[in-house]
Amino acid sequence: MAAPTPTQGTANTPSPALGLRDRHGRTATDLRVSLTDRCNLRCTYCMPEAGLPWLPKPELLTDAEVSRLVGIAVRDLGVNEVRFTGGEPLLRPGLVDIVTAAAALEPRPEISLTTNAIGLERLAAPLVAAGLDRVNVSLDTLDPGTFKELAKRDRLEATLRGIEGAAASGLAPVKLNTVLMRGINDAEAPALLRFAVAHGYQLRFIEQMPLDAAGVWRRDEMVTAAEILEALKAEFDLVPDPAHRGSAPAETWLVDGGPAKVGVIGSVTRPFCGDCDRTRLTADGQVRNCLFARGETDLRGLLRDGASDAEIGARWREAMWGKLPGHGIDDPSFLQPARPMSAIGG
Ligand code: SAM
Ligand code: SF4
Repeated sequence: MAAPTPTQGTANTPSPALGLRDRHGRTATDLRVSLTDRCNLRCTYCMPEAGLPWLPKPELLTDAEVSRLVGIAVRDLGVNEVRFTGGEPLLRPGLVDIVTAAAALEPRPEISLTTNAIGLERLAAPLVAAGLDRVNVSLDTLDPGTFKELAKRDRLEATLRGIEGAAASGLAPVKLNTVLMRGINDAEAPALLRFAVAHGYQLRFIEQMPLDAAGVWRRDEMVTAAEILEALKAEFDLVPDPAHRGSAPAETWLVDGGPAKVGVIGSVTRPFCGDCDRTRLTADGQVRNCLFARGETDLRGLLRDGASDAEIGARWREAMWGKLPGHGIDDPSFLQPARPMSAIGG
């Protein structure tokens, strides 16, 4: 058999020339950076009501360390989209400076934020001035009582103010993410879509994944993409969106002839692992090649030991090379990752 050329890599080593490739032919260009594992809400599907043992401050990457790693990813590893998330990224004091540093990179990446929007009415304008391009806001209900039941905090008004503030600051179209839970907010799917269409927001439903800290997710209890579509079709005319899906996880539909759209991310029942282009960095500097990865690769230790950008980049490529072909949720041997969603960064 011919020896691999330098751009192919071997079965055990990634090629230095091809960015964040894996051995199944995918290339990661979309970096998710968790800026904190803390949050001011306690969404049942994500965090227990009592919170979690937070990462100790010395273990968190500093703002300068985050910016250095984002810089390596963008300049040396082919990342062209950077999404800041958490926990709740608006709780990170240095967020505006971190966005400013990302926006100064060449080539300039797309910069986005996933947030619960609490405080966004105040922060949206400085974030836009710093270079933020897009925002995704979690909104699971329009009912204050349901919000309190689901997120264990009475903050619906604050969330809605944040969403309005984001739209007013030019972050349009604001994308909304909704996770439906059976018996709690699953009846609200049409009302949430009516709200989104009326305000010009783009709504996406995300199937609940086994990433809750309590480990109580049950496959037979989750609300499936098929159920969500059925509920929406009872009130809206949905036509598959002719626009190409690419590596986007959401399947989209035109609502009542368009231009409004709705998305459904069937992470569990309609997995899109074959098109995955994500790489993840946790707030304590660990690379995860998948939300569901059982292992992590420590970049913080390398960085604090004085490693060069090239050495850090090589370790990052190795971490991605070993990415599994799929999340395997339906496999009997599936094990939930030790970190919950809030500590990985969704
Ligand atoms: N706090 C921010 C927020 O809620 O948007 C950012 C972090 S949160 C972990 C990111 C996204 O993950 C949110 O859209 C949230 O709904 C989603 N999420 C959290 N736990 C989930 C789960 N078990 N299944 C599916 N999505 C989940
Ligand atoms: Fe916080 Fe976001 Fe998790 Fe809700 S989904 S508890 S807002 S990190």
